[in-house]
Amino acid sequence: MEVSTKQVLSLIQPTGDIHLGNYLGAVKNWVDIQDRYSCVLGVANLHAMTMPYNAKKLEEATWKMIYQLLALGVSADNLFIQSLVPEHMELCWILSTTCSYGDLTRMTQFKDKSDQLLENNGKDEFISSALFFYPVLQAADILIYNADLVPVGKDQEQHLELSRNIAQRFNYQFGVEYFKLPQPLFTETPKIQSLANPLKKMSKSLGEKHFINIFGDEKRIRKQINSAVTDTGENTSGEMSPGVSNLFQILWSTNGIDSHQQLMAAYQNGGLSYKDLKEEVANNLMVFLESSRERYKEINSEKRRYRDMVKASTDVIRKKAQSTLKDVRAITGILNVKY
Ligand code: AMP
Repeated sequence: MEVSTKQVLSLIQPTGDIHLGNYLGAVKNWVDIQDRYSCVLGVANLHAMTMPYNAKKLEEATWKMIYQLLALGVSADNLFIQSLVPEHMELCWILSTTCSYGDLTRMTQFKDKSDQLLENNGKDEFISSALFFYPVLQAADILIYNADLVPVGKDQEQHLELSRNIAQRFNYQFGVEYFKLPQPLFTETPKIQSLANPLKKMSKSLGEKHFINIFGDEKRIRKQINSAVTDTGENTSGEMSPGVSNLFQILWSTNGIDSHQQLMAAYQNGGLSYKDLKEEVANNLMVFLESSRERYKEINSEKRRYRDMVKASTDVIRKKAQSTLKDVRAITGILNVKY
């Protein structure tokens, strides 16, 4: 396959364990696009600091995310750790001078996330200004690699638009055509619902029973699928219930196309046993995950080697960031340090 010269940038926060929703909705897409584009794919540990977090666990979660991404097929050459490229933070500061306060106040994700914190923990909850400032760091993440394309879901579209505005204002303010305006890379990715409550998106924040840890215990995964909510009894519309539809979605997204076809035909004839559907979803998922789960074990037995690989790729990726920053320092009248 011919690789496009277009630069793609994408980051994922280190949440510890990648769940089935993260994998099918985001990481699998990384694995697919890295064959088609030049990719810079990072673990965003600096972004993880914007919400309340445990400092001791962050480092562990960052490496765990790296090992899991590698196990799922992300190439080590494309991977980096955000905080090991401190140039992101310096560019963030410089770009903040070309981002208006008013633009930041219009970011809906800040409102959603801060509301969520207040709702969960009461009106005295601490909301960091980093959470408010997050989109400027995100713009720096993108612009420091002069990325052409950024894979985005609906929730990140507004932030990418802000990155474009910041780039545009920078170019205008300093009279240069330096930054490209990054475009969204829309790819079709499935949305996976919680098996315990199929009306909600699969997510860690809902609690243990709401997400499938793809590197977790097989028995537990099977049990979770076995006890998935199918019909809630409230569905009188004749349409497929969200729980059943979610199971079909998982089957389809994990390459179970043939069994999807057969079981869907059974559903349409009114002869589908949900027990059979769940069994097929579980069997199919375990086959689909087998090689990644194996690889994860191997990686865990040689952590040091994989850490060194990712530190080396981060060093290579950092060179590009340093080169951008050198230009930006000159453009903005800041004395250059020697890189
Ligand atoms: P998060 O950990 O929620 O920040 O998600 C990391 C990535 O996984 C983002 O690109 C999300 O869009 C994607 N993602 C998270 N949960 C799901 C889900 N239930 N279904 C599909 N994609 C998801």
